[in-house]
Amino acid sequence: MSIVTRPARVDPQPARGRARQTEVGDMRDTLVLNASFEPLSTVSLHRAVILVLQDKAVVEQAHPGLRMRAAAVDLPVPQVIRLCRYVRVPFRRQAPWSRRGVLARDQHRCAYCGRRATTVDHVVPRSHGGADSWLNTVASCAEDNHRKADRTPEQAGMPLLRQPFVPSPTDAMLLGMRAGERSALPEWLVARSAA
Ligand SMILES: [Zn+2]
Repeated sequence: MSIVTRPARVDPQPARGRARQTEVGDMRDTLVLNASFEPLSTVSLHRAVILVLQDKAVVEQAHPGLRMRAAAVDLPVPQVIRLCRYVRVPFRRQAPWSRRGVLARDQHRCAYCGRRATTVDHVVPRSHGGADSWLNTVASCAEDNHRKADRTPEQAGMPLLRQPFVPSPTDAMLLGMRAGERSALPEWLVARSAA
């Protein structure tokens, strides 16, 4: 299966070099909506295409100007698909904590200096009983993480620029998508999750 730019038409000839190949790795995640339009999860592009080809989901939003083509397939490249059948989801009280989730929640900005963060700092250090939890972890640049060491912000004289918070499961999932993918989501979806 290849991804080509428009115009897409059924072509008995292989695409050869004239159709620009697009980097599939840049579009890894496709958002899955329940039949009720609630965001459920993200899946790989490959999995999303299979769900659509099996008539288990429909494409709600596609990458503009891109088509997927295989032997007998001509399909928009899905960014958002929606399941045809409603899936009952067990109530999730809270998004599971993860380092990746903390960095995404804090938009990769250091909680101490605002520069780009690549590490996760425990506000109350683990050596002082601090937990791996949303409220006890913040994104931090490596320098500040190292400087703060085994101290609380008060002890280190390093006040937090903003307080950590617990994202909703939907927020956590949307935050887990790459920035480029998130900004490509329909406005009604992002507005809803931010509410
Ligand atoms: Zn910093």
